[in-house]
Amino acid sequence: MNTKTPLIITALAALLPLSAADIPAHFSDGAKAKLADSIQLAPSEYQLNVVYFYGCDFQPATDHERRLSELFTYVQQFYGKAMQRNGFGPRSFGLPILPNGNVDIITIKGKLPHKDYPYSGGHNKVQAELAEYFAAHPEKHRSGHTFILMPTWLDDKFSNENPGGVPYYGVGVTAFAMDYADFDLQYLGDDTPKGRLLTKYLGGLAHELGHALNLPHNNGTPDQNKAMGTPLMNAGNYTFGMKPTYLTKASCKILDTSQTFAPKGCKTAFYTSQQDVKVTDQELTLENGDTLVFKFHTNARFKCVNAYIQDAPFAVNEDYEKVVFDEVVRDSADPTLYTVRMPLKDIASLKGVQQHAGVGGIDLVFVEEDGTRHSYRVQFDWNAITPQGTPLRDIIHFKGC
Ligand code: ZN
Repeated sequence: MNTKTPLIITALAALLPLSAADIPAHFSDGAKAKLADSIQLAPSEYQLNVVYFYGCDFQPATDHERRLSELFTYVQQFYGKAMQRNGFGPRSFGLPILPNGNVDIITIKGKLPHKDYPYSGGHNKVQAELAEYFAAHPEKHRSGHTFILMPTWLDDKFSNENPGGVPYYGVGVTAFAMDYADFDLQYLGDDTPKGRLLTKYLGGLAHELGHALNLPHNNGTPDQNKAMGTPLMNAGNYTFGMKPTYLTKASCKILDTSQTFAPKGCKTAFYTSQQDVKVTDQELTLENGDTLVFKFHTNARFKCVNAYIQDAPFAVNEDYEKVVFDEVVRDSADPTLYTVRMPLKDIASLKGVQQHAGVGGIDLVFVEEDGTRHSYRVQFDWNAITPQGTPLRDIIHFKGC
């Protein structure tokens, strides 16, 4: 027997689309069709914790294990294809998989009635009970990233046709989304009530997952959006599955060092760096009347740096429009000096560019080898930008992004 054969097959498999046989037999025909162009993903060292949580007087929505396994497999493929397209290999967030091909979902019946875990504040009680579960089952805690699904309330206001009631947002590296009986991949792309509802909630799941995997909001440039659609971390949660939706290269650069994307055998201790990051000698100028140029020095070394530019305010969920530039270039002669160029035509969607007024901000997001992120924001007046330089207002540094 040629013992090298399995190795060769493995290597070939990485280059070929999955055969239909690789999609679990019990997945619905509709799901199999949606997954037909799946690619073979590289094995992962860490996996996303997928949790299903419901109250003690409640039940999971019908067939939740099959439906959610299909949906997470689809979203995993979406992320994996984006990583492949952007040069990071066929890598996605890892999922714990059972022998039958379903996702190994941690299902928890809560201590309280379902309505005691409401949208507003319910996440605290869910997370407290989940922490107890992980303390008792440490082998089920497969990474620092967790996704929690809860079935819709069923009452006068909410139903499987109009789901709601439960937490549905991100809390750091944990995200919440909602399950309902027709949350089923077979309806994806259908211009029907079930199809439109699926785009809303699967797009929401994919977007909230992005946050839980370390991604901030971002928009692409007009050329990128024309070519690829709407960024998932912009308003892609409303287009996912219905219209072209994509992950920006900047998002993929951050995912490259996100824990659940680590390839099998990776020994990195994620998110442990204590590096003290300083940014100095910032300079914002207008070059040739058509390009903003931002230069700065930093004391630290990073795996990648992205720059995001936006209008004020800078509050949570008021930053969807920030346009990202993933080419923040380190100077070859002076490795402490970085430069990013932002053509005005690429940020023409910003009010500050259109009106030449108001306050703007540039966020630098520095990502270390272990996935630790640092953000550094400078603010300026749009009407004060000159070829010689620009007075910078508040300068803020914080961990995360
Ligand atoms: Zn968001």
